[in-house]
Amino acid sequence: MNKIGKTFIISGPSGVGKSTVLRALFQGRDDLYFSVSATTRLPREGERDGKDYHFIDAGAFRHMIDEDAFLEYAEYVGNFYGTPKKYVDDAMAEGKDAILDIEIQGAAQVCAKRPETVRIFIAPPSWTELERRLTARGTDTPEKIQQRLLRAKVELESARDYDYLVINDTVEDAAEELRAILKAEHCRPVDRVDQITG
Ligand code: ADP
Ligand code: 5GP
Repeated sequence: MNKIGKTFIISGPSGVGKSTVLRALFQGRDDLYFSVSATTRLPREGERDGKDYHFIDAGAFRHMIDEDAFLEYAEYVGNFYGTPKKYVDDAMAEGKDAILDIEIQGAAQVCAKRPETVRIFIAPPSWTELERRLTARGTDTPEKIQQRLLRAKVELESARDYDYLVINDTVEDAAEELRAILKAEHCRPVDRVDQITG
């Protein structure tokens, strides 16, 4: 019986550890597809085009909007971010789960279009720890860090609207909870009832 691919959204404030926990989740998992977003943000040191993001300019981003190429897109702290629709749909057709690391406005757009999408919020163990991680990452200017923290306050308020809440205390515990959520979501009767015989 073929597994049906599902879409999972991972949201959470900047610096909470989404990329880090997803890296742990993806270890040895070729049944998962990481949705590579397009963004107008400049690459950070170590980020690779086509793997972490498709780094494009505002004109190319506008072109993709006009072509209706995005499942969703949003503005975040002065840049645009969007999920290319085609790759998500291709991955699901292959039976893979598509994992979207996207912020809350984009998450709302996806759920409006595709209500079956599973939403997972990743929260920090404390506000102080969030500030510490965001600062220690060393990728953003003090001004950008303040803007991201301002957004974080709003984002944390939306945690209760999600289907699951994972607190990223240790990376391995958080990744384990994500594995459990993915597994449980494939045990829903709607996906399995056809397998019952007799
Ligand atoms: P996000 O993708 O949510 O913006 P990152 O994955 O870039 O966050 O993590 C931000 C910083 O916090 C990084 O320096 C990362 O190494 C660190 N980090 C992530 N998870 C943890 C954790 N559980 N404990 C301590 N530090 C963490
Ligand atoms: P960062 O600049 O730290 O990589 O990402 C900033 C924020 O943008 C994060 O909250 C991340 O989840 C979000 N993000 C990344 N890709 C997308 C996307 O395609 N769409 C939306 N709406 N948000 C995204």
